[in-house]
Amino acid sequence: MQQATKCPVCGSVTETSSNFGMNTVFYECPTCGRFELRGYNALSKCDRNHLSSYLFYHRFKSDDYTEYRYHTNLEKETCDQYRAEFEQGNNTHGHPVHMDEDIVNSWFPRSFAEKVDDILLRIFQLTPHMGQQIHLSYEEMLSLFFIDRKERDMVLSSKTYGQWCDREEDDCINETQFILEFLNNSGYIDFNWGIKGSVGQNLFVRLLPSGYSRVDEIQKNTSYGRSALVAMKFGSDTIPLRESIRKGITDAGYIAIFIDEVQHNDFITPELLKHIRDSKFVVVDLTHQNNGAYFEEGYAMGLGKQVIQLCNEDTHLHFDVAQKNTIMWKEEADIPERLTNRIKATID
Ligand SMILES: [Zn+2]
Repeated sequence: MQQATKCPVCGSVTETSSNFGMNTVFYECPTCGRFELRGYNALSKCDRNHLSSYLFYHRFKSDDYTEYRYHTNLEKETCDQYRAEFEQGNNTHGHPVHMDEDIVNSWFPRSFAEKVDDILLRIFQLTPHMGQQIHLSYEEMLSLFFIDRKERDMVLSSKTYGQWCDREEDDCINETQFILEFLNNSGYIDFNWGIKGSVGQNLFVRLLPSGYSRVDEIQKNTSYGRSALVAMKFGSDTIPLRESIRKGITDAGYIAIFIDEVQHNDFITPELLKHIRDSKFVVVDLTHQNNGAYFEEGYAMGLGKQVIQLCNEDTHLHFDVAQKNTIMWKEEADIPERLTNRIKATID
């Protein structure tokens, strides 16, 4: 059953469909994109402010009807299984992308400077052509600028003590204005407030030449970000390898990006190149000798990124890459600890 309701994360008017038997609701939110929440209290532990920005920065929009990806709090293992089915042409569950509190909280920028960099990159991504203004609804604006839309009610005598409540719209707008003025005074953007409508104040923002320069700098700067792209052969036969690599990267304090979890085709796309540029370093497993992995390694090296190579002992390496210092592994179980140590030794 489809109906319009308020998005539980950001408050936008949203299309939902529910499967009450499974305690599952699917949302098509104009701000957060496609996502699914399972369980009665799916949001009880989550920081709504972090989650709303996370979804806006990673959203899957269904504008072209070919988007099968969606965020979900379904367990990782089940997501992997559904995705494997999807790759084989079974679209019963689409292409789920797992999210949980740890993923959301470790992504969320900690410092003001990190927020500013993330905001500029996101405006850059949302701008189709140079010099264009982008339009942001009130809800999009709060998510983009990391403005808290919820706060815990801490008034002891109130009925909602300890619960998440909406902040005053004026407070949110004042905070947005503060960041907008900073970005404008730095020469990065200009902006106009739109007409205040029934769903709140909206905003027009435009990236200026200094903003583009800053975006270039951020993208080239290898010290930016906490993510690491992993290039390898994807498929059901390499799941243990994938998880071992993920563990090695996570244990070192970084976020592993597997491109098949964020895009659903095998081509070298602008999105893939963007993920390589955004990564602090790249991990390549050359066991299966696929061209994609070689290409991604070359592209990353061209950008001056550190590349960590892995390979199964039984594989004969291509001459050009054989001389690089490579972690040769016998079993997947060897990988996490060695990879974590290598990251700590060469990246941190
Ligand atoms: Zn939403």
